[in-house]
Amino acid sequence: MEDFRRKIPVTFSLPRRIQRLGELSYNLWWVWNQDAQHLFKMIDKPLWDMVNHNPVAFLQQVQRPLLNKVVNDLYFLDRFDRVMDKFDQYISNPETWFNLTYPNLKNDLIAYFSFEFGLHESLPVYAGGLGILSGDHLKAASDLGMPMVAVGFVYKQGYFTQSITEDGWQETRNFYLNFSEIPIIPLLDEQGKPLMITIDLPGRKVYVRIWQVDVGRVQLYLLDSDLEENSPSDRQLTSRLYSNDLEVRISQEILLGVGGVRALRRLGFKPSVWHMNEGHSAFLVVERILEFIQSGMTYLEASRQVQKNNVFTTHTPVPAGNDQFPIWLIDKYFTQTWPQLGLTRDQFVELGRQAQSWGESFVMPVLALKLSEQRNAVSELHGEVSRKMWHWLWADHPEDEVPITHVTNGIHTGTWIARQMDDLFRKYMGQDWQMHVDDPELWLKIDEIPDEELWAVRRHLKRKLSISCNNRARKMWMRGGVHPVQVLASGVLMEPYSLTIGFARRFATYKRANLILRDYERMLSIVNNERMPVQIIFAGKAHPADEPGKLLIQQVYRAVKDARMGGRLIFLEDYDMNVARLLVQGVDVWMNTPRRPNEASGTSGMKAALNGVLNFSVLDGWWREGFNGKNGWPIGDETEYQDYNQQDEADSRELYDTLENEIVPLYYQSRSADNLPNEWIGRIKETIRTNGPLFSTHRMVKEYMNNLYRPAIEKNQKK
Ligand SMILES: *Cc1c(COP(=O)(O)O)cnc(C)c1O
Repeated sequence: MEDFRRKIPVTFSLPRRIQRLGELSYNLWWVWNQDAQHLFKMIDKPLWDMVNHNPVAFLQQVQRPLLNKVVNDLYFLDRFDRVMDKFDQYISNPETWFNLTYPNLKNDLIAYFSFEFGLHESLPVYAGGLGILSGDHLKAASDLGMPMVAVGFVYKQGYFTQSITEDGWQETRNFYLNFSEIPIIPLLDEQGKPLMITIDLPGRKVYVRIWQVDVGRVQLYLLDSDLEENSPSDRQLTSRLYSNDLEVRISQEILLGVGGVRALRRLGFKPSVWHMNEGHSAFLVVERILEFIQSGMTYLEASRQVQKNNVFTTHTPVPAGNDQFPIWLIDKYFTQTWPQLGLTRDQFVELGRQAQSWGESFVMPVLALKLSEQRNAVSELHGEVSRKMWHWLWADHPEDEVPITHVTNGIHTGTWIARQMDDLFRKYMGQDWQMHVDDPELWLKIDEIPDEELWAVRRHLKRKLSISCNNRARKMWMRGGVHPVQVLASGVLMEPYSLTIGFARRFATYKRANLILRDYERMLSIVNNERMPVQIIFAGKAHPADEPGKLLIQQVYRAVKDARMGGRLIFLEDYDMNVARLLVQGVDVWMNTPRRPNEASGTSGMKAALNGVLNFSVLDGWWREGFNGKNGWPIGDETEYQDYNQQDEADSRELYDTLENEIVPLYYQSRSADNLPNEWIGRIKETIRTNGPLFSTHRMVKEYMNNLYRPAIEKNQKK
């Protein structure tokens, strides 16, 4: 990369001895290093919580006397020095997995494109699962020493904040990110001006500015069109995620794909692998083909060249869920492009054309599939579903030979493990256990953890969740303007001794958040069992334009408010990475009820399993691979249904049966003399031992490297 000036936008006034805290705050390495976060907590824990765990905001607001105090605290300074040593070693360590495994690929570079990146709650440029996966991918790539850069958007309005009205209706609020309080670094050009690129949209030029986020060793570049040079509507292009306005959407995707390639060029990068995480960035193929054509190739030669080192990951198991545009928009936005490519209009449209029941559209995954030689789905079952769904593109192949493989998703261990669980693992699995997370041998040591120690951590985490719910309810109450029942719904009656089930995810109809309410009377009796009560915590947002999703929230919320439920159902507003961490670490059981086979993978259950929370889920996506008969419970079997009603009825009946006959009694009844649920703890160990190594992004990113990036690189070398 050329040496553009990175200008840290704020100057912290910090005592010299701990000045490097400023540098630390601008590298998201702290997100997955609990010791680093602990430094901030040691300085001022209440402020740390108030600024939403954001060190950049923290260092601007912290009171000088508190800093002066820690500078004289030998214990603090010792911790500080150790964190900085660890950071320096991490950044400069030459003996990474990548360097040791692929010493001769040092000069190759992988470019990773995604519409959203979920790295931390203080940088809310993500909506949900896809973003979290991208964020976790980058963190693992950094841990493994992969040569990777990434491209996305900085959404100035973040993703919306959710609140629920008394009647259960989701209300959304947009807010503006304060760029001087988030860990993003402006890049400046040779003249000290913002580093920019331009792209052409019909009748206008759009200027795009490039920001940088340091994710350990990996750089993420975020594009931003909110510049004076642009018209008011173009300034809005990068302000929100997932607009429903198709013109905004196609402009965004041109910006990401075409603009992303230009941004990387402007920065001096020559990637040998181009990874499109979902179809939103697929227009990058157009720009890359144009580059080759400008260097003298024909369209055919150029497209063959581009195909070789493209990698495309699909995440959608439902045809209607695919990102697509009406053909008239393609006409509007690409008339200038097809002659440059040497294609006719029809030839261009053909690259993404798919016949639909309502006509034809230009489907981004079709474009990506046609122009990538490396293609994958995100779980084994999703691989099968994808090969079936895209069979028409390879009509002369048998279905099982459709060239789409799978790499099952994972989660970034350091990001999702609870601090207390990490301490326990360090004690019994070694200080550096996180560097070996994908080694099943390491996890055998779980059995050495005494039951009472493991249970003490589990109880601590549930208490922490319970206190958090109470505190959130208190804040809501004090803020005013809410009905008391809304306060109650947010967890006033939550207590840490009952069996607690978590259900948190996007409210989309296929996820069936209401499945557990199907037999309402039965649910009432399960929840209110005097001797064995059950609490259920719900959280999740619906897309603002998804009316059925919002109706689902309302249906759940009505049950939450129902006095007969005794305050044992809870709805936590504003699901984000912070709420996700609290839940996946704090509940006893993680429940997921998607309508099979619509959950491509799912990742929240993996986060739960890592922390010793037992999964109780439909055998779809990752859980179909993760469940082994003793490390949690299934809902339903592998039956394929044609009729939704039949499927829901069968699944809900099994859900109640398993809860009543197995889960609840196992939690409460099989207690030893010292009140330890030994069988339950046995299952916890089983789930950690079996799911821990399998569903980490270290395993996942290594598979991407070995099975997809490496072939792409090798083809590139041969050309
Ligand atoms: C992990 C996570 C998700 C994705 O979870 P699924 O199981 O795929 O639904 C979504 N949102 C947040 C905030 C998460 O942390």
